Amino acid sequence: MQTVEKRQENLSSPKEIWKECLSIIKENIPPIAYNTWFLPIKPLSLIGSKLKIQVPNSYFIEWIEEHYNTLISRTITQVIGSDAELVYVIYDDQESLPPITESLEEEKPKTETKPQQIEKDFDSYLNPRYSFENFIKGESNQLARAAAIAISENPGKTSFNPLFVYGGVGLGKTHLIQAIGNKVLEKFPEKRVIYLSSDIFTVEFVEAIQNNTVNEFSNFYKSMDVLIIDDIQFLIGKEKTQDLFFHIFNTLHQLGKQIVLSSDKPPKDLLGLNERLISRFQWGLTADIQPPDFETRIAILKNKSESYGIEISNEILEYIAHNITSNIRELEGCLIKLLANASLGSREIDLDLAKKTVKEISTSREVNISIDYITKIVCEFFGVDENKVREKNRKREVVLARQVAMYLSKKLTRSSLKTIGLHFGGRDHSTVIHAFNSIDNMINEDERLKETVESIRNKIELGIA
Ligand code: ADP
Ligand code: MG
Repeated sequence: MQTVEKRQENLSSPKEIWKECLSIIKENIPPIAYNTWFLPIKPLSLIGSKLKIQVPNSYFIEWIEEHYNTLISRTITQVIGSDAELVYVIYDDQESLPPITESLEEEKPKTETKPQQIEKDFDSYLNPRYSFENFIKGESNQLARAAAIAISENPGKTSFNPLFVYGGVGLGKTHLIQAIGNKVLEKFPEKRVIYLSSDIFTVEFVEAIQNNTVNEFSNFYKSMDVLIIDDIQFLIGKEKTQDLFFHIFNTLHQLGKQIVLSSDKPPKDLLGLNERLISRFQWGLTADIQPPDFETRIAILKNKSESYGIEISNEILEYIAHNITSNIRELEGCLIKLLANASLGSREIDLDLAKKTVKEISTSREVNISIDYITKIVCEFFGVDENKVREKNRKREVVLARQVAMYLSKKLTRSSLKTIGLHFGGRDHSTVIHAFNSIDNMINEDERLKETVESIRNKIELGIA
């Protein structure tokens, strides 16, 4: 009888009951497991000794039942009583059900049923600056943009799953895929959305291996409604990360969750990426972003200068748009530099200043590139340890990375062959010439390698600009 009284006196609301349960659970499992699996749960109602809780998706139920069944039944028995029962409700299902109001013991539905901001137990890592509203539409990004908008209205429910966006550097991939995340959260604040680049994913994975938390790591990503991964090409050469990502991909796809990926090239050209991943990347929609045409460049410049609150004549905008053609980040950079130059010399923004600024932007591309920087980017690209290219390692991928790095050092810096050789473990100048010639020959015969080298080169030049 005492238990019944206790139940009615102290623990009348499902919230308090659940809080009590959580405090017990928390003491019995590692913090990361607690944060991943239990914090996202919301108590809904208590009818008799039936506690109804709401979980983000069915994967939660499976996982919790499989791993924490004993702990949970012990806990609810302790808190609610021996006839305690737990009922799971998935958020999506909940939405389509009419609210249950007839039972008095049911917690009253709150007046604000859909708060604008729902507190989550994790950070989405989305930058609110990236929206569809400030993403200028043009022929060069038409399909990618339309698909992005469609899936943000209906994540996981269109045939664009995954959405795979590819294109050169500085063309708006990150902007577009983050805009998806921001829009989804605006429309569906309760959805679990996360954005990250594939190299961060890799770093976290390595940490998880070291800390023995690979399961939690993987389950955290499997619990998302929208998973957005930028620059997927950085998974090249990282076999274990690819394997894990493959499983996460499959789980999410089966659950009808939305996956969004970006890359610098189309799936079929991701040399060194597991074939089964490449084929999955093509299940949904693959859309490219091309360099913007002249009209789009003008529109972007107009839009950006307005957002900085300055007015620039058409003549100057056209001059910039004619001279900076390959990427949008540089267009932005040029505007900012123009502003800086104008305010530094407290002078008007005129055509002369624009010319001077464009020239600065173009020359800064060449002079600052160091051999070490080139090596770093090349090695990142091939997934090869930087030290290996400086040692006497003859593994195929190391040799290729070394030769490409030497080739680009010759092309992009004014260093002598001798200097270049010194940077690669003191190799002599004939080795550098040999590397240069063999890459030069290979590029002429192998279209894919040509593109690879080209995109590494773009990345290097952009990092410097
Ligand atoms: P990527 O990821 O393809 O390298 P980003 O998304 O980082 O390129 O874009 C580079 C810069 O250009 C960002 O500041 C972004 O806001 C801007 N940008 C790119 N495309 C557009 C666009 N269509 N409209 C407006 N700004 C854009
Ligand atoms: Mg990007």
